Amino acid sequence: MKRKIKKILIANRGEIALRIQRTARELGIRTVAIYSFEDSHAPFVLNSDEAYSLNGSTANETYLNIPKILDVASVSGCDALHPGYGFLSENSGFAAAVEQRDIIFIGPPSNAIKKMGSKTSARRLMSEAKVPIVPGSLDPIKSYDELSLIASEIGFPLLIKAADGGGGKGMRKVDSFSDLKSSFERAQAEAQSAFGSNRIYVEKLLMNPRHIEVQILADAYGNVVYLGERECSVQRRHQKVVEESPSAAVTPELRSQLGRAGVNVAKACGYVNAGTVEFLLDANKQFYFLEMNTRLQVEHPVTELVYGIDLVKAQIQIAEGEELTIKQSEIAPRGHAIECRLYAEDPENNFFPSTGTITHYQPSEGYGIRNDSGICAGFVVSHLYDPLLAKLIVWGKERKEAIDRMKRALREYTIGGVATTIPFCNFVMKHESFVQGNFDIGFVDKYYNNGKQTSNDIHNILAASLAVAFMAKNRVSLLSTNSLETNNVNRWKLKRFEDA
Ligand code: ADP
Repeated sequence: MKRKIKKILIANRGEIALRIQRTARELGIRTVAIYSFEDSHAPFVLNSDEAYSLNGSTANETYLNIPKILDVASVSGCDALHPGYGFLSENSGFAAAVEQRDIIFIGPPSNAIKKMGSKTSARRLMSEAKVPIVPGSLDPIKSYDELSLIASEIGFPLLIKAADGGGGKGMRKVDSFSDLKSSFERAQAEAQSAFGSNRIYVEKLLMNPRHIEVQILADAYGNVVYLGERECSVQRRHQKVVEESPSAAVTPELRSQLGRAGVNVAKACGYVNAGTVEFLLDANKQFYFLEMNTRLQVEHPVTELVYGIDLVKAQIQIAEGEELTIKQSEIAPRGHAIECRLYAEDPENNFFPSTGTITHYQPSEGYGIRNDSGICAGFVVSHLYDPLLAKLIVWGKERKEAIDRMKRALREYTIGGVATTIPFCNFVMKHESFVQGNFDIGFVDKYYNNGKQTSNDIHNILAASLAVAFMAKNRVSLLSTNSLETNNVNRWKLKRFEDA
């Protein structure tokens, strides 16, 4: 059934809420924002057509609070809801509650979310659909005896994972039988406390694979296409920091194999809307299904730049009941795109989250640059939510041009007041292995030593402080001797000047 959307509630915050607002506005659709106390002056609130306070601070009181969000949807007269990523985006109960209120959920049907939401049910479904999966258990493991039997079949090292987990959390590497029992017990306890479910399963730990994922679009009439792959192997704590499309490791033949596998995954679970099928690719170019993300991904812009398709627009049109007009034969990559996630984290201190007020904000500009950000000067970065500040995305004719452009864009990007991952992203862009396209998910462990590869040259400290003085003009207080050592503005400026 076709139905034009007039007003969307965006059940999210930060850069992704703004991202969705922009496309909605271009389509003539009104947007409603919801916000916590901390976000009351955030750019996504100010840019919305209407905004409603959720009267709370923590995620549970606000962006995860289903009754409050559904109330706002009713009161504001929204006919659709976009969940963004994170928060409630992969909660099948939430999607079902939205559907029951006759509000269009801009995402897959709740039953597809449910099938793919549990990692074990997704693995079982994929093995039945003959999609290669990482060797391991198909169902949650009930006892230690069952685990030890599977461990002897797949061998060590292996990974115990939370069946209902996500976000890179709840994974435990086990090297031998001697650690298996204690790891099993600890993994169950960790899964229970992090995800409210102690269900765990086991996978073979693949040695040095690459993380490659396929973007798919599916309409309600059974048409499914793939928009190539994204490589997301540069990760810290099993979470992505740098992504690109296409992958340096994927040939056109492999792309079509991966793409067809992605389409099969989508068909096997009755998928509709945009989704991502994640694979691990080993050194022999064998790929294995890892999981499906039943939502828009953080890194979706690299695909948009290379394939020239606004994925949020496609999501809205599919949700309105439109048929996909694009054919697989018309879809081809053009050029190369890279995304750097700019997190409020200290890359010199194990990516420890950094909080505080943004004192200066000047994103880079110019040809081939896209900045999807959720911040502004004066914005307070809180410990309550994900520390993603902005996504810097560049496009180039080919990979080398994209890397050079990213280096230039990182150099111009100014965020003051909190530590950010800008110096780390700069490190990646300059690293020979990354430049050669010769890397895997072990990149950070193998090459990055907490930023210690840079010197502490006093001249650079002085040069950096002078530059900050120049840019901050009225903020002379930042330049006290004391702040030279403690202020993060100066610390990342220091990096930038060393790199010059
Ligand atoms: P989450 O849902 O928590 O993000 P995933 O299963 O998607 O967890 O895995 C996240 C990352 O962890 C992968 O991109 C990869 O780097 C690593 N990983 C996961 N499973 C394996 C495995 N079986 N072997 C090697 N690395 C893995």
